[in-house]
Amino acid sequence: MCGIAGVFEAEGAAGLIASILFAIQHRGQESCGAAAREAGGRIVGHKGMGLVKQVLDEEVQARLSGATAIGHVRYPTAGCSDVVNAQPHLIELAEGPIMAISSNGDLINYGEVRGRLEREGVVFKSDNDAELIGRLIAMYHVRGLDIEAAIARVQSELKGAFSTVLMYRDRLYAFRDPHGFRPMVMGHLTHEGEGEPPSEGIVFSSESCGFGIVGARLLREVLPGQILRLEKGQPLRSVWHAPLQPRHCVFELIYFSRPDSSHFGESVYQTRQRIGACMAAKDGALANGDDLVVMPVPDSSNFIALGYAKAKGAEFGMGLLRNHYVGRTFIKPTQASRDEGVKQKFNPLPDFFPGKRVVLIDDSIVRGTSLRKLVRMVRQAGAKEIHVRIGSPKVIGPCFYGIDTPTREELIANRMSEAEIRDYLGADSLSWLDVVDFEAILPGRRQGFCTACFDLDYIYPPEGFATKTNAPAARETQPVG
Ligand code: AMP
Repeated sequence: MCGIAGVFEAEGAAGLIASILFAIQHRGQESCGAAAREAGGRIVGHKGMGLVKQVLDEEVQARLSGATAIGHVRYPTAGCSDVVNAQPHLIELAEGPIMAISSNGDLINYGEVRGRLEREGVVFKSDNDAELIGRLIAMYHVRGLDIEAAIARVQSELKGAFSTVLMYRDRLYAFRDPHGFRPMVMGHLTHEGEGEPPSEGIVFSSESCGFGIVGARLLREVLPGQILRLEKGQPLRSVWHAPLQPRHCVFELIYFSRPDSSHFGESVYQTRQRIGACMAAKDGALANGDDLVVMPVPDSSNFIALGYAKAKGAEFGMGLLRNHYVGRTFIKPTQASRDEGVKQKFNPLPDFFPGKRVVLIDDSIVRGTSLRKLVRMVRQAGAKEIHVRIGSPKVIGPCFYGIDTPTREELIANRMSEAEIRDYLGADSLSWLDVVDFEAILPGRRQGFCTACFDLDYIYPPEGFATKTNAPAARETQPVG
């Protein structure tokens, strides 16, 4: 997963980019970068390993002068962890460094397209999808297509997810893959009225939570399959729009995005509360009472637990404290380091648990690492019963569109039965959301969402991969207790 940002014609663009990226830092902590167009037209960039505050400090912001800039935060999903894979990528054309690109999402046909370009003599500096998108656009442009036709051609040739900002000469383009897998929104720094705003002062972000920090107002999403052009002195223009059936990533709403963002027309925190309420409605057999406390695994599950507690009329409690200075435990390379990471990350509130029946809510269970540790922790802290509730269906397939899900073999739901998972976690009972529940949680909009990691309904299934049509049918789950 990653995050992108763009600013067109605003004073201190690189500083604005750093602020937006800081607000979406949760989308990637491994590396980050920014590129800005200097007054003379040359694009300069800076990127490095680490967090936005460290890499894009005030000195770097001052050096990246210019009123138009783009930026990126990276969480590695494809490609190695190295600064060469950090973004933005500067693409040199014969006229000089006049193109830069940042993108969020993974491509399915990366290998095939890269092979084709390499046979044409194109040299790559990274193994990053964004560089491939930029070099493919540059190739079609050099061969005679104008830049917009080149972007449109690339948009139709590439399979997979890309929410992209591209600086070319004095223009900024923002475009999205035709299915709109990954989010991308547009805002304006000053425009308050109705109607189209001027191009100047337009900002882009992966998430709308990136706008408050720079005082921008959310205008709307960049639509799936759309190419927007911003040019100084010209109105904002949608120069191309070729959408396909939307496949918005449902996991953005469940886990990845910040609760104060809204995506694909849905508020993240409200969706999470609806998930919690839906789970509570199915959980009638678990009796309410003074000893029952509903507790999230912080922070991603806070609103799911709130929704659950509210619907059940039960007490909401924050019995687990989270240390925010621990990096991502999920992507640590070994099971031992992931286990250790969980211990460093969470601590139980003293004297909170004795005598309590705990409904412990997490947004997802992938390998089972976090919950196994947490259930033990809560038990040792004195809880008399622990009922684990998962705010998503069982994860049974990897994501090929940019979420870092491990191989099918590593996914606990593929390795164990429901009762075995409950015992492995050490819980008294366990249940998941069901794929069919999305009909109620996203009323009328279910068809627009990609749920492939839960139901194997891949729009671009890799060859030889089990999909919804050739895998055993998903069935509704009951709490195992
Ligand atoms: P696991 O511990 O392997 O079962 O992973 C589930 C936990 O990791 C949950 O607490 C999620 O909040 C979190 N999580 C799920 N998917 C991801 C992901 N792709 N990247 C990082 N964290 C994740």
